[in-house]
Amino acid sequence: EHNSLFLRGFMILFFSCITIRLNFCLSSIPSSLKTLPLEGHFIFDEVSHVARDFGNRYQYHPMAVLQPKSVSDIAVTIRHIWQMGPSSQLTVAARGHGHSLHGQSQAHGGVVINMESFKVPEMKVYTGNFPYVDVSGGELWINILHESLRYGLAPRSWTDYLHLTVGGTLSNAGISGQAFRHGPQISNVQQLEIVTGKGEVINCSKEQNGELFHSVLGGLGQFGIITRARISLEPAPAMVKWIRVLYADFTAFTRDQEQLISAENTFDYIEGFVIINRTGLLNNWRSSFNPQDPVQASQFKSDGKTLFCLEVAKYFNLEDINVVNQEVQNHLSHLSYIPSTLFLTEVTYVDFLDRVHVSEVKLRSKGLWDVPHPWLNLFIPQSKIHNFAEEVFGNILTETSNGPVLIYPVNKSKWDNRTSVVIPEEDIFYLVAFLTSAVPSSNGPDGLEHILNQNKRILDYCEKAHLGVKQYLPHYTTQEEWRAHFGPQWEVFLQRKSVYDPLAMLAPGQRIFQKAI
Ligand code: FAD
Repeated sequence: EHNSLFLRGFMILFFSCITIRLNFCLSSIPSSLKTLPLEGHFIFDEVSHVARDFGNRYQYHPMAVLQPKSVSDIAVTIRHIWQMGPSSQLTVAARGHGHSLHGQSQAHGGVVINMESFKVPEMKVYTGNFPYVDVSGGELWINILHESLRYGLAPRSWTDYLHLTVGGTLSNAGISGQAFRHGPQISNVQQLEIVTGKGEVINCSKEQNGELFHSVLGGLGQFGIITRARISLEPAPAMVKWIRVLYADFTAFTRDQEQLISAENTFDYIEGFVIINRTGLLNNWRSSFNPQDPVQASQFKSDGKTLFCLEVAKYFNLEDINVVNQEVQNHLSHLSYIPSTLFLTEVTYVDFLDRVHVSEVKLRSKGLWDVPHPWLNLFIPQSKIHNFAEEVFGNILTETSNGPVLIYPVNKSKWDNRTSVVIPEEDIFYLVAFLTSAVPSSNGPDGLEHILNQNKRILDYCEKAHLGVKQYLPHYTTQEEWRAHFGPQWEVFLQRKSVYDPLAMLAPGQRIFQKAI
């Protein structure tokens, strides 16, 4: 009895000491951060603006927000936290434009680095035979577009929406209708500057520190902070022919899409979307088609049927208009769309690339932008797209979809298998993106619960039917699920993590690792 009393007393003392030490550590962290030699500064109070994201479902408050003014600010901060060792529990998340969906740019009780305020290096365009632009990792793509256009140039590969940062999209892949030809944005980067999870600043490219370069691309922020990127440019066109045609037959739709992405000289942009009993602003938010208003394809009355819209674009300069008209006619003549459903307009290149922003402005004015976004993005192997469509568009998603459903194929040959991004095995795979908005406090089909349930049904079906589907912008909550997502790539991912961020302090909001693995 004497022994057990002693043991109990010892345990109480031991745990009290640990608690006191932990509390001491936690309370001393802000002051230790305050003493760091920085050109920028930390914010400790007003931090709630970084505890949210576009998904609008998760809110994790950080302890501090770093407003960096130099790469050294980022390196010094990370090195300091690295030197605290695993016991500090402090994590670090780079936040670009905060347009992720599940808290990926947040760090609960940790440090968020506000990359959008980080303007180093100043954006600089290099002309010549192989033009490129050097940008900060926190730069928005819309700013890169405007700056490079001053030299008659522009990046080759885009996302549909340009108010996203370079670091944010390169951490995923960055895909849009140009990816079939140029690959995703991660295939169009020449160099990066990275601050690793140990606070080292490293320049990398395919040739120099190639392992770090490939790790970071599509790496979900796990291996370092992208502070600078060198992005390939091409001559920019002035104008775009923007075309939509409709199909009732899914087989004809995908046959035409696949034929177009495989031909040498076709359109410059190829996407598509599904029209499911479409009504209302939320449904059409990505479809703001045109200034001249040919009857909008996206509002086509489908009489309760599901239709498929092929969306293509051809770039041109005004002096080439006749040749381009002929080429477009020629390409269209080989397609099997419903003949009366050709929608065609001409817009400037900037208006075309920045088209989703127009819808954002509209939705914001109606208070419909900052709603929950339970999005689901999937990569589906070509051989399984018909099974997928039959079940998902035929059974699960028949009534309506509260937001656009994109569907388009890309060529795997344009993706570099040394990067961290996970894609299906086949040569052609489809992006299917359910870009749903939930109506706050609705219990109906447009409510959050209903949509989440629908997403779950889609994922369950994919798993049961062994479709070999991979999530894009992946979200999982357990390491087992992450292992399954990465499949054979998991060991490499783990190995890279142990080299570049051994304490697992970076991008905790992805929920792949816990600090101090
Ligand atoms: P954040 O949300 O701020 O960060 C995302 C992740 O990247 C976090 O884990 C963060 O820690 C990490 N990160 C951010 N910056 C850095 C950095 N500098 N270094 C290292 N890690 C970093 N994606 C497409 O591919 N194609 C599309 O067409 C497309 N359209 C979209 C349209 C809208 C309206 C929205 C909201 C999203 C769209 N996306 C699209 C998804 C988008 O690419 C990703 O959500 C991207 O992460 C958002 O960039 P961000 O700057 O907001 O990143």
